[in-house]
Amino acid sequence: MSFARRPVKIPTAGIAPFSRRELLTGMLSVSAIAAATPGRPMISTVTGPVPCNSLGTTLIHEHLLWFGGPGLQHPGYSPIPETLQSDSVDFAVSLLNDAARVGIKTIVDLTPHRPIDLYQQIARRTAVKIIPSTGFYRRAKIPSSWAEIEDEKQMEDRMHKELVQGIDGTSIRAGIIKIASEGAPLTDWEKKVFRAAARVQQATGAPIASHSGPNSAPEQHDLLLRSGAAPRLIVLSHMDVGTASRTERLRALLPLLKQGSYFEVDTFGQDFYTPWSDLTAFLRFFCDAGFANRLFISVDCNWHWENGVKLFEGAEAPTRDPKASQRTYAYMMTFAVPRLLESGFSQKEIDTFLIDNPRRIFCGL
Ligand SMILES: [Zn+2]
Repeated sequence: MSFARRPVKIPTAGIAPFSRRELLTGMLSVSAIAAATPGRPMISTVTGPVPCNSLGTTLIHEHLLWFGGPGLQHPGYSPIPETLQSDSVDFAVSLLNDAARVGIKTIVDLTPHRPIDLYQQIARRTAVKIIPSTGFYRRAKIPSSWAEIEDEKQMEDRMHKELVQGIDGTSIRAGIIKIASEGAPLTDWEKKVFRAAARVQQATGAPIASHSGPNSAPEQHDLLLRSGAAPRLIVLSHMDVGTASRTERLRALLPLLKQGSYFEVDTFGQDFYTPWSDLTAFLRFFCDAGFANRLFISVDCNWHWENGVKLFEGAEAPTRDPKASQRTYAYMMTFAVPRLLESGFSQKEIDTFLIDNPRRIFCGL
C-alpha cells in the first residue's frame, strides 16, 4: 500500500459464469467444467478461470510484483529492469510456495500496472491461484503512459477490455478493479478513474478494491455509489490506519458497512502504522457491531528493487523496520492468525475474514 503510501453478462469478468461459447469450444479445462455447477460463477486467474468453490483461504490485498525502483522512467515508478526479472520471478514463486505450504489457496493481486508476461511465468510455478487486477493505482506511482490518460472513456475502455477480453494481448482476464486516491479530497483525475470504474463494474459485475483509508473512504464510497457501483462489490482498503481505537471515529465509518461494502486491514506487524491494540480494537468493534461478514484481513505484501536490493515496505526510511521482510503472504498464517486467536478472535471469525468473505464478494455465495 505504501503510505507516503498511504472497487452478468457474456463475455464475462470478475463474476463469470461459463459462456456457451467457452463450453462448446473447449476453452475451459475438463476438470474446471466438471467442478462447476450451473449458477456457480467462474473466477478469472492468471492461469485461467477457476470455479468459485475453489478459492479457499484468500488474501484479498496483495502484490506479486511492485516496481523496479523509483525515479528512472517516472518519478515514483520504474519497471523491473530486464536483468532483475528472472530473480524477481524466482522470488515471487518462493513467496507463493511458502504461502501454499501454510494453507493459502488464493492471492488477489492489486497491482493493476503489472508485467503480465512475468505473472504468467510465476503462476505456472505455483499452486496458489492468482486473481489479477485492472485499474489505476496512485497517479504518481504508475507508468507515465497510464498516468497521462486524461480521457475518462479511455480509462473505462482499458479496464473493460482487461476484464472481458484480456490483458496486454493475452487471454488472461482481470478479476477485480483496483483504484486509488492519495487522500481526500479526490483530485479531478482520481474522480474520473472512480466514475469509470463504477461504470465498468456495472457492465461486468467485477468487484472494486480501492486504496483508501478512514479519511478518504467516505468520499470515495459516495462517488462510487453515485456513479453506479454496488456496495456489495466494494472493498475499501487500509481502513485501520490512523483510526486509533477511538470509538467515535469507528462509529462514523459504520454507515459504509451498513450499506453493504467491505473494509480491509493489513497492518499486521506494522505497529508504526497501526499498533496491535488499535488493529484488534478496529476488528473487534465491527465484529461486535455485527459486520464480521464485511471485513477482510490481508498482508499487502510488497517489495521493490532499490540499487539491486529487494526492499519490503517498511524496510526503508523513515521506519527502517528490520522485520519488514518477514511480512510475506505466509505471515498471515504464521503470525497474524495466531496473534488474532490469542487476542480473543474466534476461528469462526477468522474463517469469515479469510474464506467466506472472499467467496461472497467474488461469487455472491
Ligand atoms: Zn497494496
